[in-house]
Amino acid sequence: MNKNIISQLPTDTTVKTHVDLCDYTTFKLGGPCRALIDCKTPDALGRTAALLVKSDFDFIVIGQGSNLLVSDEGLPCVVLRFCSEDKPHVEFDGSRIRVSGNTLLDDLARLSVEHGLGDISYCSGIPGTVGGAIAGNAGAFGQQIGDVIKSVRLMELNGAIREVTADELAFEYRSSVLKQTGAVVLDAVLKVKRCDVQIMTAERERILELRSSKHPDWKTMPCAGSVFRNIEPTSAAERRQAAGWFLEEAGVKNFHVGGAHLFEKHANIIIAEPDSSAADVYQLTEKMIGAVKEKFGFSLVREIKLLGNF
Ligand SMILES: Cc1cc2nc3c(=O)[nH]c(=O)nc-3n(C[C@H](O)[C@H](O)[C@H](O)COP(=O)(O)OP(=O)(O)OC[C@H]3O[C@@H](n4cnc5c(N)ncnc54)[C@H](O)[C@@H]3O)c2cc1C
Repeated sequence: MNKNIISQLPTDTTVKTHVDLCDYTTFKLGGPCRALIDCKTPDALGRTAALLVKSDFDFIVIGQGSNLLVSDEGLPCVVLRFCSEDKPHVEFDGSRIRVSGNTLLDDLARLSVEHGLGDISYCSGIPGTVGGAIAGNAGAFGQQIGDVIKSVRLMELNGAIREVTADELAFEYRSSVLKQTGAVVLDAVLKVKRCDVQIMTAERERILELRSSKHPDWKTMPCAGSVFRNIEPTSAAERRQAAGWFLEEAGVKNFHVGGAHLFEKHANIIIAEPDSSAADVYQLTEKMIGAVKEKFGFSLVREIKLLGNF
């Protein structure tokens, strides 16, 4: 990336030109990219994207990198990082919440509980940003963020900005239209209900405890949550079935490739030890897919997003 472009970047951005993406993913894996530009506000993200479009630079947008497997050889494009780990950007107005896409989802859950607004305590402890959560319709315990979205301000990949309603985002299980279009969430308005602060505080604590007893702490055990999507029901009467159950039945619990192995409490979570590579993780997912296919005759679908060549 040349100095001329760097000098035109908005002031509320920081740019790094020699950077490995392993420092920006919860798997702690991933090779170099052309440049990494940290965009601190929706406006900075919009203006940076417009500049890159005008200058013919390919780019992608990431949040906290908690749902990504980036290849060891890295990416031949610029990466825009839209993740505010130290400062949530949330405004409360009656039963509405306006939140910036770079706010951490757990910060949104905590602040909503403190304001007695909106039962989104099920988001407590889920890593990642609000933007990443909306793109993938993140959730837990049968509820998901798409249920409370009223509108979203989007940036299309050509830099154009427009506001859309929740209907236009076509939320589905762990998916939205943004997964196909690649449009970026700048900020969103949630419509929520008033809740009792004490009840919700207790509920948030219960969920955080439950998660810490069942999920790895990604800060000490690099991972990206569930690797595969749960299995869609074949009729309206059935419920979605846990991919973890099929994996356990297929006998994958002791599978490993290089430094990548399965989390002892959950067969759908891969832990990447410090000596592992993204290729190890990818090969392990292939082995897991193969085992389930052999035993049950269907192929699991990855929930984590692969970036780069595998
Ligand atoms: C320990 C652990 C537990 C987890 N538990 C859960 C869980 O219970 N439920 C759940 O749903 N997920 C869970 N996850 C997965 C992950 O936290 C979510 O998918 C999260 O929403 C990803 O957000 P992110 O900011 O990290 O996105 P990234 O991983 O950075 O990106 C993921 C995708 O979202 C896109 N994206 C990122 N930001 C934006 C934006 N502003 N606008 C549009 N697209 C964007 C990226 O381009 C990419 O395609 C877990 C992960 C970990 C590590």
